[in-house]
Amino acid sequence: MDCAVCPITVRKALAKVPGVTSAKVDFTSKSPEVVFDPKKASVDALTNATAGAVMTAVVLTTIITCPACWHRKDETMPVDACAWYYECEHCKTVLRPNYGDCGVFCSYGANKCPPMQQAGSCCAG
Ligand SMILES: [Zn+2]
Repeated sequence: MDCAVCPITVRKALAKVPGVTSAKVDFTSKSPEVVFDPKKASVDALTNATAGAVMTAVVLTTIITCPACWHRKDETMPVDACAWYYECEHCKTVLRPNYGDCGVFCSYGANKCPPMQQAGSCCAG
């Protein structure tokens, strides 16, 4: 289950770099293809832009709370994926996202999942 939000974020960040004439991101490989004027833009500038896009105010750690036994566990969320299943280590209940949520982290975690933090939407939307 791939999330299309993150490549879009990267592409937008690349397009903002001065000297970049076109930027697209291959959704299959998730590697950006950028056409830019080497006199105006540098690889460093592109790298900084994408690093900034990915790292913008995204909290990757969360505390997930099991609704069955209230067990709390620190978790690290994947940057570009949603978690549809989460097994509570305490009571072994398998959690599923609430209706309308993109993943268990959004339903039961202290923080929204990274794609939601970045774009306010995710794969399901
Ligand atoms: Zn539990």
